[in-house]
Amino acid sequence: MSSLDSLISNTIRSDVRAINGYHVADASGFVKLDAMENPYHLPEHLLQELGQRLAAVTLNRYPVASYASLKQRVCQQLGVPAGYDVILGNGSDELISILDMACAHQDRRAVVLAPTPSFVMYQRSAQFAGMDYVGVALKADLSLDLPAMLAAIAEHRPALVYLSYPNNPTGNLFAESDIVAIIEALGETGIAVVDEAYEPFAQQSFMGRLPEFPNLVVMRTVSKLGLAGIRLGYMSAAPQLLAQFDKVRPPYNINVLTQAAAEFALEHVDVLNEQARALRAARSELAQALAALPGVTVFPSAANFLLIRVPDADDAYVKLLADKVLIKNVSKMHSVLANCLRITVSTPEENSVFLAAITASLAA
Ligand SMILES: *Cc1c(COP(=O)(O)O)cnc(C)c1O
Repeated sequence: MSSLDSLISNTIRSDVRAINGYHVADASGFVKLDAMENPYHLPEHLLQELGQRLAAVTLNRYPVASYASLKQRVCQQLGVPAGYDVILGNGSDELISILDMACAHQDRRAVVLAPTPSFVMYQRSAQFAGMDYVGVALKADLSLDLPAMLAAIAEHRPALVYLSYPNNPTGNLFAESDIVAIIEALGETGIAVVDEAYEPFAQQSFMGRLPEFPNLVVMRTVSKLGLAGIRLGYMSAAPQLLAQFDKVRPPYNINVLTQAAAEFALEHVDVLNEQARALRAARSELAQALAALPGVTVFPSAANFLLIRVPDADDAYVKLLADKVLIKNVSKMHSVLANCLRITVSTPEENSVFLAAITASLAA
């Protein structure tokens, strides 16, 4: 063994050495429908204005640590209830790490629980925080298996339960009454995190219900709304609970450019909301067109992507790649996703390119 190999095995955790890094496909030259990005840009005059705004940012100073102006805008414009504040994260991925780190007890087994399949970072982040992860399979129709969830909660007493609403990669909204039953079952022993990354496309939210549930955290991101590149997530909860999580947050975790860009984008949030509206309409059109193809099942979606089942997902995926269309093959993620593909809804033009390619792949 080389000395570096020895160094690595002496220092790096065995569970970290054993895994592969988070894989992101190289999409250059492809129609990119794999990552739930908004395909639209800000209009040219707003980009000019944004450029001037960013040029005026003080780069030599640390950010103002309170982030008061951005937080105030988020609270006012994004439906955070009166008396509730937010914590900002470098994407909601960082907020998940913060939640896990804060709940990863050193003196006893701490558990993260989530339905599966769901967002992969729930499991990854729990592992990195040194927590146990318990996954509870969704039913074949992709709804929550509530009796199984409640049984697992009783058995494992999770500190955190993550519920993606709507769920990634399935696209559906879990029943509101099931989520409430889970929040109530956790009671004083666990925190329910409702992850509303796709809220602009679902238009359904638990944010307004925060005052009903002291153990509820509502988490969102601006990524899917059209600002994936700036990396900004936010979460709200009862102020006393939020204050605990804030202790774990790195002090200057939002950089000044992100802060300025986010404030600017929120001043023009009507532009982003209009893009979301166009994507919701495109989602219906694409779902209808796909449902008309022989052998294709389209699952209901409240997100900016569609989950479909085809006769042979691997075959369709490879043929789409050959046509320079990149989607996500989720068929090996979980048995309930057998032969399933996940496609980001995009512009009418890109949706047509995808539709032609998948039609050809099914015929060939
Ligand atoms: C995309 C996604 C996120 C990640 O959001 P970022 O703010 O970009 O880190 C979180 N949760 C779910 C369910 C997602 O699909």
